[in-house]
Amino acid sequence: MALFRRKSAPEPLAARAPEPEVPQQAVLDALPDAAGVLGPDGRFAAANAAMESLFGAGRVLGRSLLETTRSKELADALEQGPFEAEVHLPALQKQVLARARPLSHGRALLLLRDLTEAKRLEAVRRDFIANASHELRTPVSALKGAAETLLSMPLDADAKSFVHIVSRHAERLARLTQDLLDLSRLETGLFRPSAETLELAPFVEGLIELFVEVASKKQISVGADIPPGLRCRADRRALEQMLVNLLDNAVKYTPQGGRVTVLADDVGGAVEISVLDTGPGIEDRHRERIFERFYRADSGRARESGGTGLGLAIVKHLTQAQGGTVGVQSGRGGSRFWIRLPSPSSNAVVTETSRGPA
Ligand code: ADP
Repeated sequence: MALFRRKSAPEPLAARAPEPEVPQQAVLDALPDAAGVLGPDGRFAAANAAMESLFGAGRVLGRSLLETTRSKELADALEQGPFEAEVHLPALQKQVLARARPLSHGRALLLLRDLTEAKRLEAVRRDFIANASHELRTPVSALKGAAETLLSMPLDADAKSFVHIVSRHAERLARLTQDLLDLSRLETGLFRPSAETLELAPFVEGLIELFVEVASKKQISVGADIPPGLRCRADRRALEQMLVNLLDNAVKYTPQGGRVTVLADDVGGAVEISVLDTGPGIEDRHRERIFERFYRADSGRARESGGTGLGLAIVKHLTQAQGGTVGVQSGRGGSRFWIRLPSPSSNAVVTETSRGPA
C-alpha cells in the first residue's frame, strides 16, 4: 500500500512536496450521517450523497439552510455557534439529531442523523415491554397464590423446600413485571404527575417506618434529619415510590451494623432530598450507568438481594416527569443518592443545566 510504504532514508526537507490537502468531498462522503459544509454566505458549498438523498437531488447545493430544511430552529442555532440537538425538520416531517461545528474561513460543518427508524424501534420496544409485562401479570399472580396455598398445607420437608423456591421466584417475577409495567407507563407518558405541596419531615418519617423491621434484622439504624416545615412540590405517590426505591437500595446494600439517613434542604429554588448510606459505595465506572434499566454494578450481589435492576430507572423517570433531577455521589464510605424537586416558593423547573425560571 502506497499509504504506508516507507522510504529507506528520509528526503531532505527542501525536496519534500507539500502535503496534499484531503479533498473535502471525500471526507464528507466517508461520513455515515448526512453531511454538508455551509459557506460564509450561509449556503451549502458542499454536501455528501446522504444529504442529497435526505432532501432530494438539487435541493441542497447553493441553497441556504432555511431553504433546504425549512427549520428556523436549526438556522437560528447555527448562527449561535457549535451545537448538538434533536430538531424537527418541517421540510421532511422528520426528527433528526443535528450537529454543527465551525470550520475555518467562516464555514460550518453540519451533520444530520435521521432518527425516524430509531424512534420507531424505540416505540416497538416500549409497546412490546408494556404488552409482555401486562400479559405476564395474571399467570405470575396465579403461581404466587398457588404456592402460598400449598405452603399452608401439610407437606413433607423436601416438598416444602421446593414450594418455597417456587414461591420466592414467583414473588421476584411479580416484582419484575410490576416494575416493568410501571416503567413502560412512565416511558409512554401515561403517567401525569399531579403536584401538591408536601411537608417533608412527617412524609419521610412515614416511609422510614416501612423499613424499620427489615433494617433491624441487619442492625442498621434508619433515621432522618429534615428541617421542620420544609416543603416541596411533588406528586405524593411518585415521591413515595422514589424514596421507597432509594431506601430499599440503601438498606439492601448496606452491611450489618450500618446506618441509613435521609436529609433534605432548600438549595436555591429547589428542595434536595438525599438518602445516605454507609454501604460499599459505587465505583466510578458504574456510577454513570446505574440509572439505566437492568444495569447492576455488582450483578451477583444485586440479584441475590432480590433486586430487579429497575428501581433506579423508575426513580429517574419519576423525578424527570416532575421537572426534577437525580444523581449520586459515592465513595468508600458509602453513597448519597439525591433528588431535586421544585420548592413551593419557586415556579422554576429544575433541570440539570438550570438556566433560571423556564
Ligand atoms: P436493583 O434492583 O438491582 O437494586 P436498582 O436500579 O435499584 O436495581 O440499582 C441498580 C444498581 O445500582 C444495583 O444493582 C447496585 O449495583 C447499585 N446500587 C443502587 N443503590 C446502591 C447503594 N445504595 N449502594 C451501593 N450500590 C447501589
